[in-house]
Amino acid sequence: MIRSERFRPLRRRLLRRLFWLALCCGGLAICGQTWLVYQQETERFEAGVEEIGRTHLPLLAVGLWDLEVEALQQQVEQIAARKEVASVVLQSSTGLLISSAAAEQETGDVDAVLPIRNARSPDELLGELRIHADDSQLDRTILLAAGQKIVEVALFTGLISLLIGYSLHRELHVPLKRIAAYVARLSPQKPAAPPQLRRRRRDWFDEMDLVTRGFETLHEGLLRHGAERDAAMQALAAERDLLDSRVAQRTQVLQRISGYQAILSRTLLRCVHLRADAFAPALQQALEELCEFLGARACAMAERDEKRQWRWRLVRGSLWRAGEPLELPNEQPGWSLLDCEAGQALVFVRYDDAGGGQLFVLGGEPRAGDADEQRYLQMVAEMLFSLLDRWQSAEALEQTQAELERLSLSDPLTGLGNRRHFEQVREQECRRAVRHGQPLSVLMLDVDYFKAYNDQYGHGAGDDCLVRIADCIRHLFQRAGELPVRLGGEEFAVILPAYDSDLAQAAAERVRSAVLALQCPHAGAPLGQLSVSLGVAAWTPADEQPLDFEALLERADRALYQAKAGGRNRVCVSPLR
Ligand code: GH3
Ligand code: MG
Ligand code: MG
Repeated sequence: MIRSERFRPLRRRLLRRLFWLALCCGGLAICGQTWLVYQQETERFEAGVEEIGRTHLPLLAVGLWDLEVEALQQQVEQIAARKEVASVVLQSSTGLLISSAAAEQETGDVDAVLPIRNARSPDELLGELRIHADDSQLDRTILLAAGQKIVEVALFTGLISLLIGYSLHRELHVPLKRIAAYVARLSPQKPAAPPQLRRRRRDWFDEMDLVTRGFETLHEGLLRHGAERDAAMQALAAERDLLDSRVAQRTQVLQRISGYQAILSRTLLRCVHLRADAFAPALQQALEELCEFLGARACAMAERDEKRQWRWRLVRGSLWRAGEPLELPNEQPGWSLLDCEAGQALVFVRYDDAGGGQLFVLGGEPRAGDADEQRYLQMVAEMLFSLLDRWQSAEALEQTQAELERLSLSDPLTGLGNRRHFEQVREQECRRAVRHGQPLSVLMLDVDYFKAYNDQYGHGAGDDCLVRIADCIRHLFQRAGELPVRLGGEEFAVILPAYDSDLAQAAAERVRSAVLALQCPHAGAPLGQLSVSLGVAAWTPADEQPLDFEALLERADRALYQAKAGGRNRVCVSPLR
């Protein structure tokens, strides 16, 4: 990782290291050379001393024995003239001191001392020769050797550096700079041409060639990658376009499905808890919505009855041949789609094993759609036919309920209302009378001597009588709100809304007269024929008391009791309290 922006060429760093290495090596070489030169010079000095000992010592021994001072001086000068010798001092055991010319300037230590012995008796020491080595010669030699070494090392290092620097520049620096420039231009979008190192042709290759080949491979890879990427991008774009159209198609399909679902759920919601008479408009509306959704102009539903005749149940629009007798082929069980009138109409037909069938027709060029859509359409048709069934069931149920209601509120013998009906209506009539400020009256009727009649003519004849009396009462009270009921046994009551006391009395008289007019013989009655007694009670808004039906009924009952007590076959009116 590069931490500094300072560029330091590899070549310069390498040369600098080479310089320091050369310096160290040069230093070491000079030290070694100096040591070698010193050793050589020391050896030469010792060899010289040995030679002096061999050649000059016998002469010096003779000179000392003979005390030939001049000869001794001459010998000393000869010895001092040697290259390795700086000065010489000869001292005899007798105290004679002869020294060379340079001996007086010599201050250093004596480098070699040679004893001079008598040749005839070696144990006799005649004197000694003290030799000072020529250090300046040693220094010169060492300096010369060191200088030579420095020149050698400097020359060698300089040449090596030049060679290495040139090689590095040519073989490393220039190619690497070209490669770096190429890499800087390199980008996956627009691959640059591979680096041209412009090296001369040769029959070998080196690391730089390997790097160049690597970059050529990289360049080819980038080109290939770029081509592959372009192809992939094109494929991706094509796939994206395809995806867009698929999404659009799918969205369209989903919209169609949700349209069908909306029609299905709306229709089903509309038809939940629907009364039978509300089914027809609800289903008509469903057909209308379906036509609008499918762009059809007509829609119709037919069912085949047990005589294998098609019967139209619902028709919307007038384009198709609704109303005409239908002749359809293909009596296969299950749903099938017929192509009718050259695409003008879509006809779904279903036959069952029992010979029944269902027909669902869309006319006026509806959108046929694909197989999926036809399946949804078939589902809608099935739902509509099941709603038709529900409609029929609801009608039957409502009829049954009405019949049950009627039966639960009517007296089975006479067909008049029963006590339950009377109980249901009375509060309602009370509220209405108070709300409208109208009077309300009630009649109570009891057949006279009816036990005796039964005893005389039998229970069946008694029932017949009760029926005839009930018919009279029904006939007399037919206006809306007038409610004649059989309370039980041979007792009847009539609620008379808007009847005041006089009107109610007149009505009661009409009943009594009508029963008499039946001229039903009754041997057990003083009158000789069947009669009835009636009690009347009325309430008017002018009464101080609020309307209390229970109290009104009690008053009518008391009036009836009075009529019975008064001799029967009469009407008694309850006085106002
Ligand atoms: P009164 O003039 O005081 O009313 O005398 P009554 O005999 O009519 O009175 P009572 O209450 O004693 O008798 C009522 C009779 O009505 C008794 C019963 O046999 C008869 N009855 C009650 N219900 C029926 C019915 O459904 N059919 C027939 N045939 N008779 C009934
Ligand atoms: Mg009675
Ligand atoms: Mg009676």
